[in-house]
Amino acid sequence: MSGPVLLVADKDQKIFDLPGYLACGQSGPTVAALFCADLIPLPPGSNLFFLPDRTPLAFNNERNVVQEVKGFSPVAAFIPPGYTQLATAAYVERKGFKILPLFSYAPVAFYRKAFYVPAVRVDTRPNHDITALDRDLLARQIRAFNGTSNRLIKHLADCAWVNSCPNAINFFFGKYECPLPVSPSCNASCLGCISWQKKGSCAATQPRLSFVPSADEIAEVALRHIRAVKDAVVSFGQGCEGEPLMAAGVIKDAIILIRRQTSRGTIHMNTNAGRTRDIADLCRSGLDSIRVSLNSARAEYYQRYYAPRGYAFSDVCASMAEARRQKKFVALNYLVMPGFTDAPDEYAAFSALVRRTGVNMVQWRNLNFDPQVYFRKMRAPVAGLLGMKTVLARMRASFPALRHGYFNVAKGQWRQ
Ligand code: SF4
Repeated sequence: MSGPVLLVADKDQKIFDLPGYLACGQSGPTVAALFCADLIPLPPGSNLFFLPDRTPLAFNNERNVVQEVKGFSPVAAFIPPGYTQLATAAYVERKGFKILPLFSYAPVAFYRKAFYVPAVRVDTRPNHDITALDRDLLARQIRAFNGTSNRLIKHLADCAWVNSCPNAINFFFGKYECPLPVSPSCNASCLGCISWQKKGSCAATQPRLSFVPSADEIAEVALRHIRAVKDAVVSFGQGCEGEPLMAAGVIKDAIILIRRQTSRGTIHMNTNAGRTRDIADLCRSGLDSIRVSLNSARAEYYQRYYAPRGYAFSDVCASMAEARRQKKFVALNYLVMPGFTDAPDEYAAFSALVRRTGVNMVQWRNLNFDPQVYFRKMRAPVAGLLGMKTVLARMRASFPALRHGYFNVAKGQWRQ
């Protein structure tokens, strides 16, 4: 039987292919056999998961129907940064299932004697590629800071060594983007927050920062990186913290300290952008670029995912426009969920938002959250899905100057 064959896991978590069944993908309620044209070899650095208390859905070639394949667990792939998935793994939840951990779950099939996934590569830069990480070298790089009193460096050492955070590793290796986490608190409660999850939900991916570093501590880390790296990016707003704008005061002081020493490097912030006045003030103080995180360009679904406190989606849009008005580079961290992101109403709202705010880049990032729980939380109509490939193609055609990717961009590369 030619075509992408279903992969399953048995009770001993052994993964194997099941001839007679074609692998399927899911987009919201829609389940269909995978198209060969959508498949790419499983990227290096991917992880394969079996999904407990769930039953795989697959296309029975003989009976010509999509059906449950009982007695096995579904297998999904967590693909690395730089790739955007076109569907989610196809399965039904069984009694007693628990919410899945904070990863994205792409379908994976056995095809041409190898593992394949439906995905597209949106960024070829190796910024977060830690597949060839030399941990002995990392240990030496971290030891070089033994004796430092800088709490932020000590925190980043943990992030690099314990949590394998690519940005923290980049700081110790002196390349690409360096993280500057500053805020233990946040003014939102995202469903998929990786540093804070409410009791009874899934585990947070890493512990949240417990202190606010001083402007001097921040500036020391930033300046070390800017002096060591060509086209360096230093970034507030990391996975191990809350919302950086909650610490706007110390950020402003740090930016002033950094810019007193050098004009080199890109000072960037990943943010929910809910506080427009702070964004305006930090842009005036020397912030070069921002990346605004959103799951939807429709206020009601933004509300259901972010549960913002003290701000609304309209403030987020106002912040984007204000940063553009001050000629800053604005990227969107667009949290992609096939079956939601490619709904016609979402596409219409998103393209209107891009046109209205004049943002410079879209980062098409897979939403790391249990897909079926997400759809129940969003309760969004999902008729007439466009497909993620169509959404990407239409955005490229409608906005020729718009940049597409996955990673932040240094100012020297904004026009590339
Ligand atoms: S804005 Fe960031 S820190 Fe705040 S809840 Fe959302 S993911 Fe977590």
